[in-house]
Amino acid sequence: MSDRVLVIEDDADIALGVRTVLGRSGFEVTTVVEGREGLRVFHSERPDIVILDVGLPEMDGWTVLERIRELSGVPVLMLTSHGHEADKVRGLRAGADDYLTKPFGTAEFVARVQALLRRQHATDPPPEAFDDGRLQVNLVTHAVAVDGVPVELTPTEFRLLAALVRHRGQVLSPVKLLELAWSDPFGIGPDRVKYSVMRLRRKLGTQAGGDSIIEAVRGFGYRYRPGP
Ligand code: CA
Repeated sequence: MSDRVLVIEDDADIALGVRTVLGRSGFEVTTVVEGREGLRVFHSERPDIVILDVGLPEMDGWTVLERIRELSGVPVLMLTSHGHEADKVRGLRAGADDYLTKPFGTAEFVARVQALLRRQHATDPPPEAFDDGRLQVNLVTHAVAVDGVPVELTPTEFRLLAALVRHRGQVLSPVKLLELAWSDPFGIGPDRVKYSVMRLRRKLGTQAGGDSIIEAVRGFGYRYRPGP
């Protein structure tokens, strides 16, 4: 799904330019010319990022930013007029994530928007539950089930499974698993990891055909075998 951008800008030329370059870069864009309307659209559409002009009629960009920040950490890129660079400090202090002075180049504008979204996606909370139709792992309650049958795991076994599921498709070495699943890895050797994985595999059972959902890759480590 493409990222949704809300542009609040009263200058028709700039709004059109911004809309065009963002649309061309694959974003879904909504443009609004006034602050109050911008907030209304913000609440109804829940955009992934907001481009906010400082100088808006009636409710100015500062107030809009303040209202947005009362309930959302959405990335906000502020736009200001040339000669008002001092606004930058104010904007950043008020919770804007980035700042551009008009006129700005299209390439730079798009790059800033993409950087903000990348940063945002990197800090998105990890999903709370994993379910591929075969294995269910709730990362909050620590409930685990295979084909709908609950499985009791020790805390270490749970962390091992969670690490394998988070890195599904990748082969994790015993040393890597030690780092990911043991809170205090000192004094624990790879043999202990192998033993724990063996117990975990036994508890999770085998699939039709005799394979475990945790695959042992000889000489390398272990991998969660994603469901069909
Ligand atoms: Ca303006």
